[in-house]
Amino acid sequence: MLTLTRGLLAAGLIAGTAVSGGPVVAADDVVNVYSYRQEFLLNPFLEKFTEKTGIETNVVFAKKGMLERVKAEGENTEADVIMTVDIGRLNAFKEAGLIQAVDSKILQANIPAQFRDPANEWFGLTLRGRAVYFSKDRVDAAGLSTYEDLADPRWKGKICVRKGSHRYNVALVASMIAAHGEEQAREWVRGLVANFARTPQGNDRAQVKAIKEGECDLAIGNTYYMGKMATNEKDPEQKEWAAAAGLFFPNQDDRGAHMNVSGAAITKHSRHRENAVKLLEFLSGETAQQMSASVNYEYPVKDGVAWDPLVKSWGAFKQDTVPLAKIAELSPLAQRIIDEEGWR
Ligand code: FE
Repeated sequence: MLTLTRGLLAAGLIAGTAVSGGPVVAADDVVNVYSYRQEFLLNPFLEKFTEKTGIETNVVFAKKGMLERVKAEGENTEADVIMTVDIGRLNAFKEAGLIQAVDSKILQANIPAQFRDPANEWFGLTLRGRAVYFSKDRVDAAGLSTYEDLADPRWKGKICVRKGSHRYNVALVASMIAAHGEEQAREWVRGLVANFARTPQGNDRAQVKAIKEGECDLAIGNTYYMGKMATNEKDPEQKEWAAAAGLFFPNQDDRGAHMNVSGAAITKHSRHRENAVKLLEFLSGETAQQMSASVNYEYPVKDGVAWDPLVKSWGAFKQDTVPLAKIAELSPLAQRIIDEEGWR
């Protein structure tokens, strides 16, 4: 459900209206954001943005229903910018006609072409690898190689991964189709499912817990969870899960590791378009890139931006450069293969 934080965005309230005791903000000096990204991830660099530009930001943090909300609001939407994770979600906004193209030299210079929409409607902002977690006790990393190898019968009963229908896995299978075509991708899914240690359950972190507990030797998971587990003061047990596993980046001798994104776009009916463009440009720049990637142990999308030290400790690696637009296009087919081959 949508929760209201930090801003003035509520039904009937116009963003920028003075609240008693608060500063009066001219309606022109705001940008309104609907976000699936959590508050702790956004606030540090939104504050920097306001400092730099004088433009206030109002954010509605959502867990679900954002697309439906923007659609229902139509021309009256308060949202200028949407922020979300995963190419599937970004592309859904495009397909629904809810976002608009932005012709910005800054965005084009900062964001490599494969990580933005060919029509410049959505823009990737941070990257995460979908990597292999392996048991340090039971697996020799020297024997690991590719995603394809995970379907080899020698891993029978050894692999843990969350449900296939999750968007992270749909995108991974789409990348497999992009690399090898439908039939080979299908065979891969079949082989992978045959190697499962258990029925898919839990999130990415739960798979690493299962490595620690000896239930599986290998898992597929996003890289930033390694950082989040290894530094988890609230739930120190997670540090033990992280310590039991190593991170391996597959396919380093060919296309590279599969990457997924967080990203942003400007709504079709944005009423503060100029400010929205400024926000996107700021988010693609050095300061915000460094901050936004580090706070969640992700990779900056802009070349040359420093990585968080912990992220750096996992090593440099080759990233798959298949355009995310291609992943979006192949996702429905990927979902069908996942369903038909019983990855559930
Ligand atoms: Fe995640």
